[in-house]
Amino acid sequence: MDKGLKESIKKFMEKRGGCATGFAPVERFLEAPEKHHPSKICKDAKTVIVFGIPIPRGILLSPDYDLYGIHRSYHTLYRQLDEIGIALCNFIESEGPYAAMAVPSYAPMIFHGAEPWGLLSLKHAAVNAGLGAFGKSGQVYHPEYGSLLRLAAVVTSAEIPGDEIIEDDPCPKGCNACREKCPAGAFTESGDFKKMTCLPYSVKHAIYPLALKGAEALKYIERVVNTAGHDYWLACDQCLKVCPNNRRIRKQT
Ligand code: SF4
Ligand code: SF4
Repeated sequence: MDKGLKESIKKFMEKRGGCATGFAPVERFLEAPEKHHPSKICKDAKTVIVFGIPIPRGILLSPDYDLYGIHRSYHTLYRQLDEIGIALCNFIESEGPYAAMAVPSYAPMIFHGAEPWGLLSLKHAAVNAGLGAFGKSGQVYHPEYGSLLRLAAVVTSAEIPGDEIIEDDPCPKGCNACREKCPAGAFTESGDFKKMTCLPYSVKHAIYPLALKGAEALKYIERVVNTAGHDYWLACDQCLKVCPNNRRIRKQT
């Protein structure tokens, strides 16, 4: 178990604007589907390092341009996080006889039918790494940044001590604001989040109506999304805007 490496990685991340970083031993991924387990991503995987950078809260407060702000900030952060991930892999491999592989922040997606999955569920990885807890909206809430963090990860064969998991429910008692406000009805009666109701409503891309028209084209959905599908437009942010966890004043550093 390499505590020294953990400290070196934390310092490395501080210098690169990785605002929130957590460590999850691979044993915490017992419930991950086989194809999306860390061991399928990195040989001899021992640790998943999850990191995130928030979009500014001010975007959600913008009177008219919140969706525009989300669009550019998400895609700027995706690239920034991907660069940090590759740099972190190279740093870890320079520190010892380790392997490391980055899990990018958005694409590539693996499609199960029409349903996109990341190589690894970054939301579950964030919870396993102590960065936050699931709220009723199906998003992960960090104690300081709420669900405004964009996430990425690195899976490594280096064995690094894990961070404490957050057990507290992030949702204030009685709050159902996200469900009540959702224009797509993306929550079941019992409150489960329906990803495949939310996604077609909220994620838009100029190329999709052309490149994914008809059953034959849909066979290539993975290739279309993973190549031409970057820079998608987000047409809905209601659950982000109404959530009290996204309105907290950040602590001074
Ligand atoms: S993004 Fe919009 S459609 Fe999706 S869950 Fe949130 S409020 Fe509903
Ligand atoms: S809006 Fe309320 S219920 Fe929904 S995730 Fe935020 S705190 Fe939880």
